[in-house]
Amino acid sequence: MSKKFKFLETKAIHSGEPEPRILGSVVTPIFQTAMFEYDGSPDYNNLKYGRLSNMPNHEALHKKLAALENGERAVVTASGMSAIALSLMTVMEGGGHFLAQRQAYGGTISLINNQLPSSGITCDWIDPQDPSGWAKLLKPETRAIYTEAMANPTMEVADHKAVVAFAKAHGLVSMIDSTFASPVNFRPLELGYDLSLHSATKYLNGHSDLIAGAAVGNGDLVERIHHKLNIFGACLDPHACFLLHRGLRTLPIRVHFQNESTLAIARFLASHPLIESVNYPGLESHSGYARAQELFDGCGGVLSFVVKGDGSTAESLIKGLQLPIHTFSLGGIETLIVQPSRTTHVTMDPQEREAIGITDNLIRLSVGLEATEDLISDFQQALSRLSAQ
Ligand SMILES: *Cc1c(COP(=O)(O)O)cnc(C)c1O
Repeated sequence: MSKKFKFLETKAIHSGEPEPRILGSVVTPIFQTAMFEYDGSPDYNNLKYGRLSNMPNHEALHKKLAALENGERAVVTASGMSAIALSLMTVMEGGGHFLAQRQAYGGTISLINNQLPSSGITCDWIDPQDPSGWAKLLKPETRAIYTEAMANPTMEVADHKAVVAFAKAHGLVSMIDSTFASPVNFRPLELGYDLSLHSATKYLNGHSDLIAGAAVGNGDLVERIHHKLNIFGACLDPHACFLLHRGLRTLPIRVHFQNESTLAIARFLASHPLIESVNYPGLESHSGYARAQELFDGCGGVLSFVVKGDGSTAESLIKGLQLPIHTFSLGGIETLIVQPSRTTHVTMDPQEREAIGITDNLIRLSVGLEATEDLISDFQQALSRLSAQ
């Protein structure tokens, strides 16, 4: 019987750890082996083989992640995209139709548009903030609804309560990519979602040094995803498991800090004369503010803002900053900054891009663990140089 803990901070440290500790080792050791001695198991999926994601490093992670999200079962995968792809392929097995949030992660959009249709899986895009448009898109073969915790990079918050109610009313499987919230700020399964997905590359690991994913949900569904993973081979190797496990232990304290620091930076930017607008659900001015207050325990480390000027003004601002590293990705300990129109959303049609607020002068910031005051002073100096130009 594994121990149950009430608070997330305690779960991050103690849930899922082997009982008793292996040779008394305080840290779960890395089992850098491809297989264990045959133990007589008659079930293929229980053969102790690394690709089957059932080694001690996988199992500790699975239990810890399930505890953090209050789910029955979890599985870790080789990337966030493999968790998303295998989950959609499992839920939509045999073909059919589903609804998905329009402003989804780029890889997910590409999966849905370019990979799934050949397996007879089709999708209609929905505005996740406006439930009134969903029912008319239902077909007899509609089987699932897919959302993200917050939309990248404008940080809109889907009407998650309505998504869960809609799924229950129409017998759909509700799936959410909860990467941007992390279990610290939102536990979708508690709200009634069936499946919570993560790019563990981001907050869960938090140290920008590995690629991983996770799916958490009810036991039967996650078991089916796990068995599909065994065949597609998107397993996480033991060393990456160890690093992710190490990262998870500090997840709550990292994200609590990021919540506070990002809110302070959002407030600073919103008050600056050279900033046109700031997108952060923790600000009263954001369309998702009320929903975030109700559903989330914090709004995380990502915000975006529009600098007065054009794409090259945005570029000058990024160049003038000393602390943020100019690159994509998010949720790590170092602050990262990027122009979505030139990177994460570069393949989108420019007009479509602008229609959803991703203009060339929009900048996305992922706040790390540097001192908030240092980051604010850095923005202060870079913005003042901008105004002197
Ligand atoms: C990064 C990301 C993904 C993809 O994760 P990988 O680990 O890069 O495969 C999916 N969804 C969201 C919201 C992400 O930020």
